[in-house]
Amino acid sequence: MTKPSTSETPSLRDIPSVDQLLRTEPAVLLRASLGAERLAAMAREVTDGIRADIRLGALGVQTKDELLKEAGHRLEALSGREASTSLHRVINATGVILHTNLGRAPLSDAARRAVSEASGYCTLEYDVTSGSRGKRGGYAEDLLKQLTGAESALVVNNCASAALLILTVLARDSETIVSRGELVEIGGDFRVPEVMANSGTRMVEIGSTNRTRLEDYERAITGNTRLIMRVHPSNYRIIGFTTAPALSELAKLAHDSGLLLYEDAGSGALVDLSHLGLGDEPTVSASIEAGADVVSFSGDKLLGGPQAGLIVGRGEVVERLRKHSLYRALRADKLCLAALEATLESHRRGALDEIPALRRLGVEPSVIEERAQKLIEQIANNKASGLNATTISGQSAVGGGSGPNVHPPTSLIALSHNRLSAENLESMLRRSSPPVIARIADDQVLLDLRTVGTAEEPELLQALLTLSH
Ligand SMILES: *Cc1c(COP(=O)(O)O)cnc(C)c1O
Repeated sequence: MTKPSTSETPSLRDIPSVDQLLRTEPAVLLRASLGAERLAAMAREVTDGIRADIRLGALGVQTKDELLKEAGHRLEALSGREASTSLHRVINATGVILHTNLGRAPLSDAARRAVSEASGYCTLEYDVTSGSRGKRGGYAEDLLKQLTGAESALVVNNCASAALLILTVLARDSETIVSRGELVEIGGDFRVPEVMANSGTRMVEIGSTNRTRLEDYERAITGNTRLIMRVHPSNYRIIGFTTAPALSELAKLAHDSGLLLYEDAGSGALVDLSHLGLGDEPTVSASIEAGADVVSFSGDKLLGGPQAGLIVGRGEVVERLRKHSLYRALRADKLCLAALEATLESHRRGALDEIPALRRLGVEPSVIEERAQKLIEQIANNKASGLNATTISGQSAVGGGSGPNVHPPTSLIALSHNRLSAENLESMLRRSSPPVIARIADDQVLLDLRTVGTAEEPELLQALLTLSH
């Protein structure tokens, strides 16, 4: 009798040890970026995986050397998977300025410096003049008051938090009146009826999808009503045969009836942006002036700052929000507040060009065309790349649930490749470092330089020219 041949299934004895695996070239190369401890943990995960696969008979004929090689490949793949799920910078060549999946508004240089400055110990809740406890977010609140004309301001984690806090504190266990045309869903799972349900207020829907009149609000008021809510439809427009009362009419009705008026303004334009085609975005100061008692909006949409929920309104109303225990759970952190202060300072100086989202929104198509042509020349000078590039006219988008009918004209770089399909080209760009995010239309990869910083152009070119390597 002979023993079963060891060459048919790999033997458990031949599985490389963690130490052997750590001495292989892939492991040595990964040590600097992962650190010894994480690398060792991954090596254990890999050898355990190989053992399990051998027991299952899921690994074919393998010699000891082949198993070691297999382990090295698995280690590389595992670290690659980890790296691709971590947060890292990308080049946004989609032309969508407030791209929610790519982090919405890019921060200004000043905001980035402020984040870095606040990332150690900082004056988050400390007053250096008196040496005693200070007010969190006090300076951001002052700037918000100056910019909106509101009596008081408060900063929470995002606009969804702001809506939840406001509805909970002002109308829990009582009724909130809202028009059917405003029961919208905004990207990222924010649905007005669901937020209302979570807050414990009873939603009283009135009117119809396209038309709601002041009398509809008036008729719905009962002894249990506390709040009238107005929601900016953001990513959605009802056009044609429509009616909605002016905010000032709603304010008068609310106040005559002993109720409060809350507007969820969403996009948060602080100034009139009609020069950027965003004339139908309400400004926050106009809402305050029209008599809204409290207004909420996002920090990372048309404000161009960090993710944040900004609340402005009447002093006594905002103080009720601040004192509620839910505020403690929803308040903004120091990095957010630092970036927000710097962004609001740019707004106060009227220096909208310092804010990347607003600057990019305003770039003329001829300027984008010129940049695109320069890049195309450099691609053409490099025949070995296999790339063919031309410019075509197209449209950028605001994104982030703002200005759904605003499509700034742009000049796109349309790319095709001698050997690669558009899908392959797009996916290779995504896997370059930093990843380049593009779109595909008509079998071409389209790059919109509106959302690419000029400082990123050399990296973009590098990614394009090294594709086939
Ligand atoms: C975008 C938006 C929200 C959600 O804001 P986040 O800051 O993403 O939480 C809520 N309400 C309106 C009207 C919006 O436009």
